[in-house]
Amino acid sequence: EVKSSGRGQFLLFAPAMDEPIRARRNAEKDLRSALEAGDQLSVVYQPTYSATDHRIVGAEALIRWQHPESGNVPPAVFIPVAEEIGLIEPLGEWVLRQACRDGRNWPLHTLSINVSPVQLRNPHFATRVIGIIAEEAIPPSRIELEITETAVLNDESQCATNLRLLREFGVRVALDDFGTGYSSFSHFNKFEVDRVKIDRTFVDKIDSREGGSAIIQAIVDLARSSGFRTTAEGVETDEQKTFLEGIGCDDLQGFLLAHPASAREIDDLLGVDTTSQSTDRDRGVGRS
Ligand code: C2E
Ligand code: MG
Ligand code: MG
Ligand code: MG
Repeated sequence: EVKSSGRGQFLLFAPAMDEPIRARRNAEKDLRSALEAGDQLSVVYQPTYSATDHRIVGAEALIRWQHPESGNVPPAVFIPVAEEIGLIEPLGEWVLRQACRDGRNWPLHTLSINVSPVQLRNPHFATRVIGIIAEEAIPPSRIELEITETAVLNDESQCATNLRLLREFGVRVALDDFGTGYSSFSHFNKFEVDRVKIDRTFVDKIDSREGGSAIIQAIVDLARSSGFRTTAEGVETDEQKTFLEGIGCDDLQGFLLAHPASAREIDDLLGVDTTSQSTDRDRGVGRS
């Protein structure tokens, strides 16, 4: 899909149109070696802020891939490839472990980790996640897994079992990109979740005159009356921020407040003293 070849674009995913199979093979090969080598992959963290006192309450882990020739490859491009070729599990587990190590000393309520529907469907998912959190000795209640609506709807039983085990262990669950699925409202009360993250497409419409603010208000009201906390994603303007604060949205995330940043930058932002920390975070994927 990504065809432009400008700086930062992904050449190997966008070869001549008559070579899609070769391109896919290159992509798979490159992703496998990235995962083995370790040094091309990293995790950045985007802070989330309380809408009431404007303090940083959490951080969302977001994976990055610096391809040796193509530069930065967006997760929206390579996560689907990883899902298809069976690499999403090691990738997802690496992100979780890295986030536990990076975020261990952050004085934050929540460390959020994105979870692919493919992971959630795996019968061993909950056990693996619980094992990593226990090994890394981080309180489970500080970990929040971000799942999507479609993940839960497409394979209800296995996902539900995983979510139940994880929540019993103390892990929290957020419904990511809320509103982009097709049956959001009717299934609202079925989800075993703690938080709803309202998708950026709704936040985008707050400034427009298309009724976007009414929709977002309805989502926040419904979420609150169902006992879920709410985070608005993709807050980019003061108008959006003021509106979201006014309607009782709990937390805000977006480029207006903070861009994703390296673990060291988050240490600095939070005033965490890193001199006594081990160098766990410098270990590569294959060596963790
Ligand atoms: P997401 O979980 O909804 O993450 C939010 C995305 O929106 C991030 O893009 C973030 O950089 C971007 N964003 C945050 N604030 C703003 C804003 O104000 N404006 C705009 N335009 N964008 C904003 P990113 O890092 O490219 O990630 C894209 C998606 O890739 C994520 O969406 C998530 O679904 C997936 N992803 C990222 N890391 C992981 C991972 O470790 N595992 C899995 N399974 N998926 C991941
Ligand atoms: Mg997310
Ligand atoms: Mg999201
Ligand atoms: Mg989103």
